[in-house]
Amino acid sequence: MSLFKERQYLRIRVDREADDSLWMKCKSCGELVFKRRVRENNNVCPNCGEYFFLTAQERIDSLVDPGSFENLTEPIVTDDPLGFADNQPYTQRLREAQEKTSLLDAIVIGRGTIQSLPVVLGVMDFRFIGGSMGSVMGEHICRAMEAAIAERRAFVLVSSSGGARIQEGMFSLLQMAKTVIVRRRLAEAGLPFISVMTYPTSGGVQASIASLGDILIAEKGALIGFAGRRVIQQTISQDLPEHFQTETFALERGQIDRVVRREELREELALALGFFVGAR
Ligand SMILES: [Zn+2]
Repeated sequence: MSLFKERQYLRIRVDREADDSLWMKCKSCGELVFKRRVRENNNVCPNCGEYFFLTAQERIDSLVDPGSFENLTEPIVTDDPLGFADNQPYTQRLREAQEKTSLLDAIVIGRGTIQSLPVVLGVMDFRFIGGSMGSVMGEHICRAMEAAIAERRAFVLVSSSGGARIQEGMFSLLQMAKTVIVRRRLAEAGLPFISVMTYPTSGGVQASIASLGDILIAEKGALIGFAGRRVIQQTISQDLPEHFQTETFALERGQIDRVVRREELREELALALGFFVGAR
């Protein structure tokens, strides 16, 4: 832990994104739909029921009691430990993601209540480099769990991630071990952790913290897996079932406990949290 705390972080300011288009095209049914209606409908297509991505803030708003959320996300960004560049330097990729999302990295953490039950919440934002987990996200997940321990609250993590952030190499893989260690402390403190997997929960995130909830919930339509379908198919030279890596596939094999519709997620979380409160 001290290794990460000593690292140099930059502080920067991000301006709000301007988005003034009124209509969007549904990728599922092809209909043009009115953006405000989609937003009011939890980002579900009013025509065909397709789920669209929720930003971290939209997800938080859909789960916590109105006005109860207090943002605990620290203004830290990675210092690009490898000096990484693919078709563009990592620092530039970060800057673009920050401008696009108004976030400094791919997660928002904070405290709030869900139907009056106190939680610390971590919510990933897929728009930010595919919700990938680098050193900043790992640090925030740990700080969220530490806050939960200090305040005797439950921890809820909503994942939407392609996995470890390759631009940080080994530093991103280290986050798997680091989050698992702090998760253990949460368990030792006797506090519940509810993990919500959404589309997609994969790679190093699925292979570490997202799979370690006391209760594992998948949002309907979630993709849950480690490597991509094509990679696995090529590696084992076998056809995979049609519904491979879907939420129902994961449920059948005991990888998750429940599949829940987006509209019912808040109720479901309150039910699970209430169970733990009652058990104390
Ligand atoms: Zn649609």
